[in-house]
Amino acid sequence: MKNGKSKLVLVAGGAGFLGSHLCDALLSEGAHVIALDNFQTGRKQNLRHLEREPRFDLVDSDIIKPLPSHLRSRRMKFDEIFNLACAASPPHYQADPEHTMLTSVVGTHNLLTLAEAIGARFFLASTSEIYGDPEVHPQKESYWGNVNPTGPRACYDEGKRAAETLTFDFARAERADVRVARIFNTYGPRMRADDGRVISNVICQALAGDDITIYGDGSQTRSFCYVSDLVEGFMRLMAYKGAFPGAVNLGNPVELTVGDLAQKVLALTGSPSQIVTRPLPVDDPRRRRPDIALAKQLLGWSPKTSLDVGLRETIAWFADERSDGSKAACA
Ligand code: NAD
Ligand code: UDP
Repeated sequence: MKNGKSKLVLVAGGAGFLGSHLCDALLSEGAHVIALDNFQTGRKQNLRHLEREPRFDLVDSDIIKPLPSHLRSRRMKFDEIFNLACAASPPHYQADPEHTMLTSVVGTHNLLTLAEAIGARFFLASTSEIYGDPEVHPQKESYWGNVNPTGPRACYDEGKRAAETLTFDFARAERADVRVARIFNTYGPRMRADDGRVISNVICQALAGDDITIYGDGSQTRSFCYVSDLVEGFMRLMAYKGAFPGAVNLGNPVELTVGDLAQKVLALTGSPSQIVTRPLPVDDPRRRRPDIALAKQLLGWSPKTSLDVGLRETIAWFADERSDGSKAACA
């Protein structure tokens, strides 16, 4: 709130999986929200329920390009700018690696420059991928990471590292008030069936009775956070009143192997699907678990949703999409 007026918020990447849930959370707190998206991986249907919402607007634009002039106008004085724009799934971000890198570097610079010009607080959705294939476990914010700078994941990992660099540089020079979240694997309703990430793949395969694809031997680990918990972390981090705290890990520290995840989904769906193995992608991190001590201390935040509860919600959502052919999220 500013002068008793509700705040105005720009959500770049607002039609995506996380961005659409963030728009919902901001609107439920009374904000006016403008979502900006190029629909590379985002979908209008994620925001269809907001079509008649007077405090919401959707703009079709790419953050690599100059922002539409009405968004740069002084009258459009955003209080907050969230940058979630960037394809997050390996097959999608690797489909056009140059665009992925430019989205993180040029796009983040465009939004930081806008934040500087109008005095908005800026939020960067960074990622646990900046830790690469970690040699330190679990990963604390102080760990610098182990990233292959020239491999097929580099467009995303190095792009996000550069986006963090730019954001920290703007903060050091006091050009913008910034927040940086390092997000660990997050799942929930509104993921795309063709997203390619493990939770959506395994659930859709189980519901269809298709083979469940495990890459490698399934012993690699991840730690999965339910979307509502993550968005609560976003809101708390953006609202944090102290000086710039540096990057903050947001994720669920409960770690499990990809093989165990597949077994859990099979049990929860009662699916007859068989597990099949596929080659492990190049540079696939072997393990990943957030140390969330900083988020607990600064924000009083920790995830509340167990994997069983989150998976049941997500399975129910994909099952509903399958039964409604018009939505067809789960092909
Ligand atoms: P997503 O692919 O569903 O959402 C990304 C959105 O950004 C999409 O709507 C896409 O169309 C849009 N977009 C991409 N490039 C753009 C550009 N140049 N200009 C405008 N819009 C663009 O992915 P998500 O899971 O919702 O991820 C959102 C953000 O969170 C991303 O920045 C991602 O790197 C980060 N993140 C997500 C996870 C996760 O587990 N979901 C983990 C770590 C980081
Ligand atoms: N994975 C898998 N089967 C799939 C999709 C992914 O075994 O159908 C593996 C993938 O190789 C990785 C883990 O699951 O080890 C998580 O992959 P995801 O793409 O969801 O996230 P990220 O690798 O970016 O953490």
